[in-house]
Amino acid sequence: MRKEVMSLEEDYRNLKQAGAKTNGDGEKNISSSRFSSLLASKDRDFLLSPDGTQVQVSELEGKVVGLYFSANWYPPCRNFTEILINAYEHLNRSGSKFEVVFVSSDEDLDAFNKYRALMPWLSIPFSDLETKKALDRKFDIESIPCLIILQPKDTKDEATLHDGVEIIYRFGIQAFPFTKQRLQELERQVREKHESQTLTNLLTNLDREYLLGHPPSKQVPVDSLLGKTIGLFFSAQWCRPGVKFTPKLVSIYHKIKQLLTQQASEDFEVVFVSSDRDQQGFDSYFNIMPWLSLPFGDPTIKILTKHFDVQGIPCLIILGPDGKTITKHGRNLINLYQEDAYPFTEAKVDLLEKQIDEEAKSLPKSEYHVGHKHELTLVSQETGGGPFICCDCDEQGSGWAYLCLDCGYEVHPKCVRAMDRG
Ligand SMILES: [Zn+2]
Ligand SMILES: [Zn+2]
Repeated sequence: MRKEVMSLEEDYRNLKQAGAKTNGDGEKNISSSRFSSLLASKDRDFLLSPDGTQVQVSELEGKVVGLYFSANWYPPCRNFTEILINAYEHLNRSGSKFEVVFVSSDEDLDAFNKYRALMPWLSIPFSDLETKKALDRKFDIESIPCLIILQPKDTKDEATLHDGVEIIYRFGIQAFPFTKQRLQELERQVREKHESQTLTNLLTNLDREYLLGHPPSKQVPVDSLLGKTIGLFFSAQWCRPGVKFTPKLVSIYHKIKQLLTQQASEDFEVVFVSSDRDQQGFDSYFNIMPWLSLPFGDPTIKILTKHFDVQGIPCLIILGPDGKTITKHGRNLINLYQEDAYPFTEAKVDLLEKQIDEEAKSLPKSEYHVGHKHELTLVSQETGGGPFICCDCDEQGSGWAYLCLDCGYEVHPKCVRAMDRG
């Protein structure tokens, strides 16, 4: 992406020169305020409004200002833009002094104009490459979308937030006025909420104290799950990785259940938290799941997604018998350890890691795998294993792996199907 942006800078420069010739307004009276020094240039003291009219930079005085680095051609930017527009409009309707200034990485003036027309806030003119570059440098912008939030009064560097995108995703407009104090307060609230978390307050609401069983008309009281280890499975039928992971989770679910029946001790259950787009998608997806589910479109789904800060699906959150969160990485643990991952506690994971280190001692140092033409070398976290995506099963891995030193192909040790070397 960076390369693409760099090569476009030539175009910006040409455009800027072309613009300079026709734009002979001469010097304007530029105020020496902080926003001016950041956002104006020596021959421009205005920003562009959505309809293209000029708005003086000085109108930002007294407002909390978000500098929004973004580009139309990049889908994560477009996704975040929608969320930011929502937050911006809410804040402005309630009279909060908040403004956003768009700093474009668009490909050309046309793309910029189209993108800008969607945005209800101000923009730096596309032709002003110098200001854009100075802002990139000053705030050390390495990737987009990026939202830098400046405070109107407190101009110290530590009052400036660099992770506005994450903050808006996590807290939305609650984070306003985006001060460090406000964020600390929100973090404290989140902590308290998690400390007082119980299965009942997570999974029920005023209108519903049950989950769906099979058939979905069967209502299973949430109370019947108290004292069990619970997996909250966030997924949807339109999500390809979710659909791919589901049969694996089904098979491991049965294995864990079987194991527990033999031990007649604790119990395990999974609850589907659906982000399907329609009832039909939900029905056919839930039909292949042997576990319980929240009803399609239930308001609790949104609350859980926020509460656990679920940023992508599929996601498997594990709750202990006391209703407290054990881990948000249930999916990863299932991929790494299958049914052995149960009950997903830190102690269990430590034990499994030790076992795997022990077992790795007897694994061949190198291996030819039927799915790959080069020799693969056994690596650990320390010798270059790190977190990876297995090229054989497409799932995450960490710790031990077989890695191709030629091309980076990497697989779980369990996924290697050794080839006859003869
Ligand atoms: Zn694998
Ligand atoms: Zn290779």
